[in-house]
Amino acid sequence: MRKVITAREAEELLRKGESAPAGAILTPSARDLLQGHVKLSGQHGGQPGVRTAPAPAAQKEYSVPDYEFKWTPGSDPKTPGEIDRFFNSPAIQTLKKRICDIGRRIWEKGYVDGNGGNITVRVGDNLVLCTPTLISKGFMAPEDICLIDLDGRQLAGTRKRTSEAITHLAIMKRQPQAKACVHAHPPHATAFAVAAVRPPTCMIPEAEVFLGEIGYAKYQTPGTPAVAEEVGQVAVDHYSVIMENHGVIVWGKDVEDAYWKLENTDAYCQTVWIASQLGGSLHTIGAEKLRDLIALRKSLGMQDRREGLKECELCDNSEFQPGVVCQVSPHVDGGGADGEKSDPQVEALVQQLTDQILKQFTAK
Ligand SMILES: [Zn+2]
Repeated sequence: MRKVITAREAEELLRKGESAPAGAILTPSARDLLQGHVKLSGQHGGQPGVRTAPAPAAQKEYSVPDYEFKWTPGSDPKTPGEIDRFFNSPAIQTLKKRICDIGRRIWEKGYVDGNGGNITVRVGDNLVLCTPTLISKGFMAPEDICLIDLDGRQLAGTRKRTSEAITHLAIMKRQPQAKACVHAHPPHATAFAVAAVRPPTCMIPEAEVFLGEIGYAKYQTPGTPAVAEEVGQVAVDHYSVIMENHGVIVWGKDVEDAYWKLENTDAYCQTVWIASQLGGSLHTIGAEKLRDLIALRKSLGMQDRREGLKECELCDNSEFQPGVVCQVSPHVDGGGADGEKSDPQVEALVQQLTDQILKQFTAK
């Protein structure tokens, strides 16, 4: 796998007066930094590598806003008075406003209708801010937001918490990096959920880096422990999960981060859906290029379960699109055999299935 150079590493290289390793992948910000000082060469033949640069100019500091709520473990407020002071503290008031802001954005985007959708933000070992039940997400005020514990018991707030909070809590309990969840019913992604079609992979590089593989959770009745269990398991390895016959839930390090993943999910599903109307098969970037994107994703601090997958499994969209099928024959032990002869019976079955899927997609 090729090495990925991040902006921080690029800065380090500049400081030491060194060049990037030959063939390394540069993140966009690393490229910006290095291009200001060095000239890349040898991309096509010749001696690959990077020539050293003139002495770097004074380093400029850049900042990226961080909305993650950080608390000291073991410091949760316990008594009613402590909880009340915490719930009305300036930091929590700011978060309540941010939740209302995200609510307005999901409503304006048409991701929720009626009283649909819900938002949570983790604010302690056992504390979560949560939107109330039976409210339009487009018109919430900070005083509507509730405080609950990780078992769903309400601790503060005048309105009753949403019943779907237990699904958010199931994610937070299993995945400690999930500090905020947003659930909505965005029409394009929800159409995939209703058609029971998993979105294909390897189509758009930015989606692969910032969203990763979209998970798929089987249908269970909304608001029940069964849906919490099902979605909670799938979300351990997926930042975005399509909930069959229901909608989408995403998680992130803060509520803005989670919301972006919701936008990414619906835009991705919309684009794939439009592309599938244009005739012909959809083009994939291929497994080798996906490995580069997974490495880039990892360098940005995001995990990806696909690191452990076989080459042929990485862009296996056989459920979505005929002709893009993992080549490992189920009769060959050991797997990983490129160019292995396929079983004619399996081939015929795959063809039959893909014809059916194609028919569904082309039928108007
Ligand atoms: Zn819902």
